[in-house]
Amino acid sequence: MTDPTRCPAAHFEDPTPCDGPPAVTVVDATGGGADGCEHHGARLLASVDGARVYALPDAPDGAALRVFKAADETRPFAWVQSAPRTGPDSLSRAEVRRHAARDADEAAAVWDGRGLRNTGAGAAIDGDDWT
Ligand SMILES: [Zn+2]
Repeated sequence: MTDPTRCPAAHFEDPTPCDGPPAVTVVDATGGGADGCEHHGARLLASVDGARVYALPDAPDGAALRVFKAADETRPFAWVQSAPRTGPDSLSRAEVRRHAARDADEAAAVWDGRGLRNTGAGAAIDGDDWT
């Protein structure tokens, strides 16, 4: 089902309008591609594992880079509101990186090189004062 008023990259369940004419092509890992406006290109890129983005020949300068950056902050299938957003598969790539960095910081806070430290909230050890 294709809506002629929207770009080919717009998922049929995504109610959002295009933000301009098609500016990019999003190509999946098998080589299949869809042209899209920057908005829907970013949403498609965020939703398809291994997808890549290329600017169309007449695209405004920086279109592919803007789509790439927007996709990094866009959750996969962003138009789906009913599913819980808890696992790494349901979060944006940027959120997954932030969670990993936070987990690494917490792990570092627990081990200080001399011994285990009770770091309070989120600490692996509760109860005794280990400091
Ligand atoms: Zn669009």
